[in-house]
Amino acid sequence: MKTNERAKYIYLTLQLLPTEKEREALQMTWDNYKKACNTFSRIKYLKLAKGKHMDVSACKKEEPKSARALAQRLLHAVYENSIKYTVEEAYKNQEDSKKLALIVFGEYDETNVKLLAIPYFRKPTFTVDFSTKKCRLDLAKNFQKIAFTIPKGLPEPPESWEVKRAYLKLIYGTWYLTLGFSNPTIKTEVKPDAHIVGIDRGEINIATTYSPDKGAKRYSAKDYYTSCKGGTKDDYHKNLFAKDVIVAQEIVERESPDTIFVLEDLHFNKLRKGWSYRNFSDAFIYLAALHHQCVFFCDPRNTSRTCPKCGEVTNTKRNRDEHRFICCSCGYGEKEIVNDDENAAENIYLRGRKELLKDDF
Ligand SMILES: [Zn+2]
Repeated sequence: MKTNERAKYIYLTLQLLPTEKEREALQMTWDNYKKACNTFSRIKYLKLAKGKHMDVSACKKEEPKSARALAQRLLHAVYENSIKYTVEEAYKNQEDSKKLALIVFGEYDETNVKLLAIPYFRKPTFTVDFSTKKCRLDLAKNFQKIAFTIPKGLPEPPESWEVKRAYLKLIYGTWYLTLGFSNPTIKTEVKPDAHIVGIDRGEINIATTYSPDKGAKRYSAKDYYTSCKGGTKDDYHKNLFAKDVIVAQEIVERESPDTIFVLEDLHFNKLRKGWSYRNFSDAFIYLAALHHQCVFFCDPRNTSRTCPKCGEVTNTKRNRDEHRFICCSCGYGEKEIVNDDENAAENIYLRGRKELLKDDF
């Protein structure tokens, strides 16, 4: 059995439909949560910087307060753990990259900020009812029961799926609640004849798939038109998400229920043109699990630079204008035209297959 830690949770993002009053309660909670996280972030940063003997004079000094004091003053006690979690996770990721800088929490399209999301981990603080399409959230002042809608193309989750956590997000003026379910397909039995499909994600091609039986297929962003069109950033964002859902749906429906999909294990700290690949993989993992298909994440290094024929990595060319891959070592792609995204999808397939078929210990 292979266990895939990266696919431990399946995410479904609901769009909230708050009334004017509920919108005010959400906004107030959001603003105060952000303030609490930024204050706690400065406390945390000063502590870490002091340990490293760094000059912290540029960082405005504040009266140190605990997460509990901040939660009580700005929100209420129940937020203490979530403030700590949000800030400490952010610094933990920074520690991995061995750089220390003050982390500022901010909004979706702000630069040099950590995107804010308010996590709800324990059940009394949030509940979701799919029969009435209402969720109940513990907000700064009181509980609010807020109506929601499931994005078009994503079916309701089966009743057997357990919601473990929820994240409140604000993106271009729209409120979302992302639900985390424990993944029922996390353990994968891999037989040597398993049906494996590699998937590369990108901007020009939302996805490119590869399997030996079906070959490569590109899902080009320009081929997908959605009804949600408008000029605002919010419209643009919703439009991209709708496209992601359609592509994800087409891919899962094209493959049999026993398929194992391989995606690159990418981490999404940066947004590209106000968009994150994360949205495609969330929708994709959700739909694949509903189709009893598994998703496995492989090592993402050099997938677009590797030659699938001879294994060469450094002596290869990727012509971005022609979207072409050429291997200067064995000549693959010199005579025939090899699309760069299709090449990456084939490499992801090969790498995933190798990792999946390795013996378990
Ligand atoms: Zn080669």
